[in-house]
Amino acid sequence: MMRQYELVERVNRYNPTTDEALLNKAYVYAMQKHGTQMRASGDPYFSHPLEVAAIMTDLRLDDATIAVALLHDTIEDTDATRAEIDTIFGEEIGKLVDGLTKISRLDLISRRAKQAENFRKLLLAIADDVRVLLVKLADRLHNMRTLHFVKEDERRKRIAEETMEIYAPLAGRMGMQDLRNELEDLAFRTVNPEAYQTITARLDALREKNSALIGDIERDLTERLAERQIQATVRGRMKRPYSIFRKMEQKSIGFEQLSDIYGFRVVVDDLETCYAVLGVVHTAWPSVPGRFKDYISTPKQNDYRSIHTTVVGPSRQRVELQIRTREMDRVAEYGIAAHALYKDEVKGGRNISHLADESRAYEWLRQTIDMLSQGDTPEEFLENTKLELFHDQVFCFTPKGRLIAMPRGAPPIDFAYAVHTDIGNTTVGCKINGQIVPLVTELRNGDEVEIIRSGAQTPTDDWLNIAVTGKARAAIRRSIRDAQRERYAALGRHILKRGFERRGLELNDKVLVPVLLRFSQASVIDLMAAVGRSEIHAADILNTVDPSHDDTPHEVISTERAASADKAREEGWFDLEGGSGLKFRVPTGATEETASLPIRGLHSNLPIRFAPDGGAVPGDRIVGILTPGEGITVYPIHSEALKDFDDDDQWLDVRWDVDTEHPERFPARVSVAAINEPGTLAEIARIISQNDGNIDNIKMMSRAADFHEMTIDLEVWDLKHLNRIINQLRGASVVSSAQRLNH
Ligand code: MN
Repeated sequence: MMRQYELVERVNRYNPTTDEALLNKAYVYAMQKHGTQMRASGDPYFSHPLEVAAIMTDLRLDDATIAVALLHDTIEDTDATRAEIDTIFGEEIGKLVDGLTKISRLDLISRRAKQAENFRKLLLAIADDVRVLLVKLADRLHNMRTLHFVKEDERRKRIAEETMEIYAPLAGRMGMQDLRNELEDLAFRTVNPEAYQTITARLDALREKNSALIGDIERDLTERLAERQIQATVRGRMKRPYSIFRKMEQKSIGFEQLSDIYGFRVVVDDLETCYAVLGVVHTAWPSVPGRFKDYISTPKQNDYRSIHTTVVGPSRQRVELQIRTREMDRVAEYGIAAHALYKDEVKGGRNISHLADESRAYEWLRQTIDMLSQGDTPEEFLENTKLELFHDQVFCFTPKGRLIAMPRGAPPIDFAYAVHTDIGNTTVGCKINGQIVPLVTELRNGDEVEIIRSGAQTPTDDWLNIAVTGKARAAIRRSIRDAQRERYAALGRHILKRGFERRGLELNDKVLVPVLLRFSQASVIDLMAAVGRSEIHAADILNTVDPSHDDTPHEVISTERAASADKAREEGWFDLEGGSGLKFRVPTGATEETASLPIRGLHSNLPIRFAPDGGAVPGDRIVGILTPGEGITVYPIHSEALKDFDDDDQWLDVRWDVDTEHPERFPARVSVAAINEPGTLAEIARIISQNDGNIDNIKMMSRAADFHEMTIDLEVWDLKHLNRIINQLRGASVVSSAQRLNH
């Protein structure tokens, strides 16, 4: 058991002006009050408040909070009274101990009506002074660490469930991630012992098999960083059983398929070094696409900041990395408590509950409580109070306050479909609690979700990978099918219209109706879609509608090309001799508005895709290649890949028609050579973000002692925007060259 002087010493280490008398007084008072009481473990009861106080010193909290930790069970479990504590320790401490006593009497896993009321009381007690929550969480953590000593199965289970459903989410919402993880893991053992056993046994086997893996990677990475004069703490670990279990449940996969077992944390001194570490990591090992997240430039709502990336490590294991500064690490670990400490150090001696007021996590707490106290009817209140109580569901709100229950893990797309299919189908983005977030963001309890809609939007294939509810998935599939047919029909109409016009005919639906049967199509739209998909040749339809004329598809194209070339000469176009022997037509001034097909972007009403790695952005001169069954692929005119398409039928004149009201970003790739110096990567990232560019990925290509080369995937609005970024990069003192890549 920790001695009196040891506790004081621990506090003294971070707070030299500790009120030692207060700590000593609380230590002695609590020890005497608990007297000969015993814990289930057989230890003296006093060891418990002492451990809780020790956890408080880890969080480096103020004297009053340490004293409250020591006293937290005295009113509940001994003959101590509020009045007595007020007299000896003052009203501030008395009030806090009283708050904790009230919470400990709340039954949070009881019948529903009572549970709601109790949960409200819990939040109100916390809202009064956030230190109540900090002590309560530490109290729960120690009780969970010693839960196995509790003999009654029922009681053990209730405590574990309460932890899983209420205290762990609350800790997470307050940004205390480590505390949350430990609480969940401890609770998991009791709530679901079979799953816990299975996963732990597998993890143990894996640990034995790959016993050197974590140490090897730690050493390897530390050495690579040291070579770049980067000081960093690298800590590896296997993920915790509960986080593995949750992932298996969410993705419905077995342990064997689970690839993210290993996590590493790289902690450095400053923000710039984080990006330098990222550069080293991506140089050393291939990165897994889609796993790069920069929570430094965009922090999470609970103030969490870190860079996340996943790489394929030396023994081909997937390895997840979190890169952050010491300060970010502390916020990630201590959440709301870290803010208190940080401000304390800067300003000295200010009251912690006021300091915590300033953090966003605390703001959420206040809002939730406001919302809870506004619920008038008991039913409404119960609905509201379900927040945080049921861990397989989350409860979110529309901007008008309508409550929508969603399965945990659901993104805003499911929310949109839950409100109405039309809203789902026209979703383009969303705001959660007023902030624009990606559509893949997991919804959390209490989120207010505002769906941003656009009439131009239709669901895309990747939504099927995002949506989790049956309702949303069925609606998306149906809508994709309809939209695809419409897109092909639009393309088919365009092709048919040109053919009709060349023969001096006007295309209208009426002339097509009589030929539907001949082509086994149910409707004009179906017929046009078949033309768009290249299942039916436009020339066959033309010859059926207008048998007097006989044109083969090849001749149609040749005639068109010849006419087009004449016209081009007239209008001042010129032919460009490509290295491949292909003739490119490049307009010098006038554009051929009627014959060329307008390209709006990825979300247009035509079956369009962009050439992979082709990087065509608005402003680039482009060509469309018609591919049966796939629609049009758009290439920049200088693309090498165009060499492969020598069939005239496939070539299509296209032009940009960007929707200025709903601008879209387009992918582009640049290559940058930069001086090899600390801060270079951060400078590059800064220039790009200052110029409104989005970084998708950074890949280090090669390194020399004095400079290194990297490929950066960007998202830009258009060519002008891309050129501006490239010029800004070229202007930077750390950059020796920057250019666009097209392959
Ligand atoms: Mn306790």
